[in-house]
Amino acid sequence: MPVNKEAYNQLNAELNSKGVTLVAVSKTRPAEDILELYDLGHRDFGENYVQELVTKSEQLPKDIRWHFIGHLQRNKVKYIAQFVHLIHGVDSFKLLDEINNQGIKQNRIIDCLIQVHIAIEETKFGFDEEELIPLADTISNYQMLNKANNVRICGLMGMASFTENMDKVRAEFKRLKRAFDKLLATRNNNLQTNFKLETLSMGMSNDYKVAIDEGSTMVRIGSLIFGERDHQ
Ligand SMILES: *Cc1c(COP(=O)(O)O)cnc(C)c1O
Repeated sequence: MPVNKEAYNQLNAELNSKGVTLVAVSKTRPAEDILELYDLGHRDFGENYVQELVTKSEQLPKDIRWHFIGHLQRNKVKYIAQFVHLIHGVDSFKLLDEINNQGIKQNRIIDCLIQVHIAIEETKFGFDEEELIPLADTISNYQMLNKANNVRICGLMGMASFTENMDKVRAEFKRLKRAFDKLLATRNNNLQTNFKLETLSMGMSNDYKVAIDEGSTMVRIGSLIFGERDHQ
């Protein structure tokens, strides 16, 4: 299935005008498809399997900003730590700790988003909203002890329920935005360098308009640009 450049250009213009970052979700797509968008100037791409991401990052231009958007296992962080631009799905403190360890080894600070579980009826990974401020406090304490200096918390990520019911989706995005604002209010007077809360990653092909209405700053879009996937 060819890349839908018309859909991409339209989407890109719409998102640019709103200051929303587009992560083109290229999972399962061949490197040639990614290059087509690259040649149009696109640099932010999202993948959800470590091996696939590593292979593509080796094949493709080095100035691509690779977003890891899937469920990341701790024992795989080491494969992407050197080059990943943003890890969207941090869903446990242990995972964050491992990302920090790999950040130390690579001598870089790795940008992360905390994943929040907003789709009530679906079993998806992530923290509950009530856990966010205690989590941020724990991270801050670790940073004061110099035990979390190689991760930077840039914001939150969430996935809405997979449903046609946009009222439900909207309510879930609203909750995520509220959680983001609450967290921001506890950190914004803080001089810690390792919180830079400015990214709210929510919205996919079927619900990105609602997500932007509700305050998304980053959308992750695959099928609208690349066509329907066979699987995943
Ligand atoms: C696959 C995926 C997307 C993109 O989904 P589309 O419906 O193709 O836009 C976004 N976010 C995550 C976490 C994904 O796994």
